[in-house]
Amino acid sequence: MNVRLEPDFRGRTEEGFARELDAVDSLRAYRQRFHLPVGPDGRELAYLCGNSLGLMPRASRVAVEQELRRWAEMGVAGWFDGPSPWFDCDQRDREALGRLVGGLRHEVVAMNALTVNLHLMLATFYRPSSARHLVLVDAPMFPSDRYAVASHLRHRGIDPEPATVRLSPRPGESFLREEDLEDALLERGGAIALVLVSGVNYLTGHAFDLERVAEATRRAGCILGLDLAHAVGNVPLRLHEWGVDFAVWCHYKYVNAGPGAPGGCFVHERHSRDVTLPRMGGWWGNDPETRFEMRPRFEPRPDALGWQISSPVVLANATLGPALELFEEVGIERLREKSIRLTGYLESLLKELVGESVEMLTPREAMRRGCQLSVRIGEPGVERALATAGVVCDVREPDVVRLAPAPLYNSFHDVWRGAKAVAEFLGTGRE
Ligand SMILES: *Cc1c(COP(=O)(O)O)cnc(C)c1O
Repeated sequence: MNVRLEPDFRGRTEEGFARELDAVDSLRAYRQRFHLPVGPDGRELAYLCGNSLGLMPRASRVAVEQELRRWAEMGVAGWFDGPSPWFDCDQRDREALGRLVGGLRHEVVAMNALTVNLHLMLATFYRPSSARHLVLVDAPMFPSDRYAVASHLRHRGIDPEPATVRLSPRPGESFLREEDLEDALLERGGAIALVLVSGVNYLTGHAFDLERVAEATRRAGCILGLDLAHAVGNVPLRLHEWGVDFAVWCHYKYVNAGPGAPGGCFVHERHSRDVTLPRMGGWWGNDPETRFEMRPRFEPRPDALGWQISSPVVLANATLGPALELFEEVGIERLREKSIRLTGYLESLLKELVGESVEMLTPREAMRRGCQLSVRIGEPGVERALATAGVVCDVREPDVVRLAPAPLYNSFHDVWRGAKAVAEFLGTGRE
């Protein structure tokens, strides 16, 4: 990827420099396309929490109101009649979604929520045999993913503890190295059925080299599943090309589709075309040509849509289109360029203003992280202190502060306010 060299941020901790950076930011107009929450003083918050819930694109309200109007005016006819009937609303956003994750149109589907989709994928792709029954996962792992993996092991009568190979960072390090995953697969790959890792780690912000992970997994003959909750809309992805078997994600973090937005799912075409794969059946995964014939036998469509179960959550789906539209306009590569600069600036400010009084869990190299920086701050009360300064971030227990500037709507000035507030909390601000 073509990333311009970062300007030298060194020594530039003054507010005016943040304003200068904003003035030359070619994506700055996109901030106006979002609603920005304001604090009690009426001032816009420095919202660095897009890793948890992305802000609301202005266009989402219109999209939801359109569906409400359709319902009010058409009733049941809304499913089939007029423009954009609900019947095929699962087809609407697939081109844009495919582009965002580097998948083909028929390899992606928006449905359910992340963990539900993970269950559906494990039901299909975790197929233990006498030779291979282990599941390899990375640590730290989001609890929901752990619960999902453990429940599928139990469902098949396997004790989850000994059957889960949990790869942790080396002592004294905060994120897992690709070579440690490769070594584990070389050593034990023959007994591993499935590998499940995060694209970008929720706690540390570390971005795996997924091409390398996919290559190592394929060589070991294992199935590769990815949790892309913190990767989608954050870093460029090429799921089809890398040959990833399946992936799941949500759209309410960096994609900005709102709370309750449907999750995402990718099934590589070498699997999605195979209608004989075992799966959790439901009428919406059935071939739409015969769906309403109510045949006794489930005939899945040869497509990622074949993993759908229930009729789509139309109202929740409505906000996905306008959210994806922004990514279509900008393109993930351009966003990533700005993201690298924003996060580089945040890192540099933290280094200047708080120095070694915080521990950085996130890798220093831009290519090994997304937009989030995770810092360990030993003193309690940081979230509250930052909130008082009008800075929104979150803390993952016990003491990891996650600061995530999102390039679609965050400014360099937001980043400056965030770093400044951390410095003031720690009493280390020099100005
Ligand atoms: C946010 C997140 C989830 C959320 O799961 P839902 O089912 O959408 O509630 C799951 N896994 C990871 C790694 C996450 O970051």
